[in-house]
Amino acid sequence: MICLRAKSVDEAVQFLEKYPEFSLLDGGSDLVLQLKKKGVSGIIDISTLESLKYIKTDKKTIEIGALTTINTILDDENITRHLPVLSQACRSFASHQIRNIASLGGNVGNDSPVADLIAPLLVLGAEVVLKGVKGERKIFLEELFCGYKSLALDKELICSFIIPLKRHRFYYRKVGARASLNISKVSLVVVRFSDGAYKISGNSLNPYVKRFKNLETLLCAQNYNDKQLKEALSKDIAPSGSFRSTKEYRERVVFNMLLEALKVLHS
Ligand SMILES: Cc1cc2nc3c(=O)[nH]c(=O)nc-3n(C[C@H](O)[C@H](O)[C@H](O)COP(=O)(O)OP(=O)(O)OC[C@H]3O[C@@H](n4cnc5c(N)ncnc54)[C@H](O)[C@@H]3O)c2cc1C
Repeated sequence: MICLRAKSVDEAVQFLEKYPEFSLLDGGSDLVLQLKKKGVSGIIDISTLESLKYIKTDKKTIEIGALTTINTILDDENITRHLPVLSQACRSFASHQIRNIASLGGNVGNDSPVADLIAPLLVLGAEVVLKGVKGERKIFLEELFCGYKSLALDKELICSFIIPLKRHRFYYRKVGARASLNISKVSLVVVRFSDGAYKISGNSLNPYVKRFKNLETLLCAQNYNDKQLKEALSKDIAPSGSFRSTKEYRERVVFNMLLEALKVLHS
């Protein structure tokens, strides 16, 4: 198998242009598993690109380079203070050893319905900066996801995530078989901003992680009952059963988590 090590972001995108079927390698915590399962045809190693490992904070945003590890995010004081929902998701992520190598870009780039950091980024309104040989573009993160394991990337590298700083209260819960090293059976993230708007998302409830827009609209109406909540939720989710959990379990547990979230956020 061919393995190319990129010495710069420009070289990485040139490699991607020439070999679009190759997989990018960052921490490798997802990719090594794919090597056997999917039969990866070649690798573009971007793991040494220091220019994509950073966290920048200004008055309005926090920008996180794609190769920043989960532990680096967890240790960042500005993220703890301004984006507590992201910190909380990082805290329940894998083990210390995995968090030391796993990157934010790899979590999003792997595009799994169980990836823990996509839902918090979506509810926070993150944008993503992409780079290809034609140049750089910035889109809302939710525009990146097209279907199961399908990203709207045109031979592009994910370079960074820009997250607006808005005051929020949040509910985050991840349910799995264990307390640590836990891949979720189901998770729910609800954010309530100071203007009263809600943003909601969760894991393992759709072929790819997306926002629950019917619920978001209903919660803004303020007057609703459990039946309406259930109906809106059922329009937003389409879980399937897997070896981790059944469809029925996911539907039931996420509804209970939603009720818990509303209690927490209204208290
Ligand atoms: C024991 C174990 C426990 C785990 N626990 C969790 C968990 O609790 N929660 C969770 O969400 N995940 C978990 N994972 C999965 C994995 O650790 C994460 O998804 C991690 O964030 C992947 O990052 P990485 O840097 O290792 O990516 P890699 O494995 O290097 O890459 C992952 C994928 O993303 C693509 N990619 C990487 N960087 C980019 C980029 N810059 N632009 C575009 N595409 C890119 C790669 O081509 C590849 O397809 C676990 C994995 C293991 C082995």
